[in-house]
Amino acid sequence: MWTAAPWLMHSSGGARWVEQNYGEYDMTDCIFCKIAAGEIPADILYENEDVLAFRDLNPQAPTHVLVIPRRHISTLNDLQPEDAELVGKMSLAAKTVARQEGIAEEGYRTVFNCNAGAGQTVFHIHMHVLGGRPMHWPPG
Ligand code: AMP
Repeated sequence: MWTAAPWLMHSSGGARWVEQNYGEYDMTDCIFCKIAAGEIPADILYENEDVLAFRDLNPQAPTHVLVIPRRHISTLNDLQPEDAELVGKMSLAAKTVARQEGIAEEGYRTVFNCNAGAGQTVFHIHMHVLGGRPMHWPPG
């Protein structure tokens, strides 16, 4: 059995849409879906009806925030043209958080890891927002 989050059912046209887009995927297994649903705690810095931003549990920089869509999308490879606005909203949330955290002017890095080879460990898309220390290039 799988269940869909209420906002997903509400905002995306109901169970048929969910079935078409997620098949048998069990969103109750997704830790970021649980954070978005308020089922497990997170240090949330920003949220609106589409996205939320919370501190990474294992920070790699003085500021390390994750921006996620509320709706489950496993990887960047799963993005559809109709998700363009949602991804834009993630970037706007990152900008807001960077300003809140005081790193907007000095600079910060945003990263999406896509699939295991790039280091993705949580399969619900997320934008890392890292700042508060010098960032090197190329990344490891
Ligand atoms: P990635 O390796 O790109 O998939 O990034 C996943 C990130 O999620 C890692 O930086 C983890 O430290 C972070 N993470 C995993 N579980 C949690 C959690 N419950 N709350 C906050 N951050 C988490």
